[in-house]
Amino acid sequence: MTAKRPLIAVLTGAGISTDSGIPDYRGPNGLWQRDPGAQELVTIGPYLADPDVRRRSWLMRRDAGAQAAEPNAGHLALVELERSGLPLRVLTQNVDGLHQRAGLTARKVLELHGTARQVECVRCHRRGEMQEVLDRVAAGEPDPACPACGGVLKPATVMFGEALDPVVLDQAEAIAKACDLIVAIGTTLQVYPAAGLVQVALDAGARLIVMNAEPTPYDPVADELIREPIGTALPALVRRLVAQQ
Ligand code: ZN
Repeated sequence: MTAKRPLIAVLTGAGISTDSGIPDYRGPNGLWQRDPGAQELVTIGPYLADPDVRRRSWLMRRDAGAQAAEPNAGHLALVELERSGLPLRVLTQNVDGLHQRAGLTARKVLELHGTARQVECVRCHRRGEMQEVLDRVAAGEPDPACPACGGVLKPATVMFGEALDPVVLDQAEAIAKACDLIVAIGTTLQVYPAAGLVQVALDAGARLIVMNAEPTPYDPVADELIREPIGTALPALVRRLVAQQ
């Protein structure tokens, strides 16, 4: 009789993408919190009400260059973990799409805050590619409208003032409840829903590994704390998990 192989849940935050040149926008010390002018560009009320906010929002996205960001050693290590055959799900707070770009199977990645690689019409909910909208901005459309219905387009992310997708959240909680090990990487675990998901996993008896440069509220209950840079520490952890299976 063979033992059931353990489900590993990996929860990722901004820290795994900083090596790819993507700053921490949303965290407690993130860019949006420090710059109210920038936060307006990603807050649903002003965004829907003011075409000028939308114009500046598209320009900000064009200039940030996140579309061109490449996965780094941390993202690639998780692809190795998947290829080892260990059951894996990734719950990410990031909207950069770099887990999938690195090669993780898309259905194994839950994007808690949506994706900035796509746009969505607020009226008909049709989805499109962010790059196509940025190309329209570059071609002289300051606030491109939905090609299907003329409605306002927004990034397919959860903006400030918007609720998380309850379906995605339910799926994330089910994974947290079912996993045997949860690895929290590059997240301060101070922001909902990340902290709640770790708590669900702990309550269900999972082990916890915290990999973050800064202390988190869950450090005292973690089975293992890793402070080293993610770019080297995560490949090392993956090698260890694969060797242990
Ligand atoms: Zn539409």
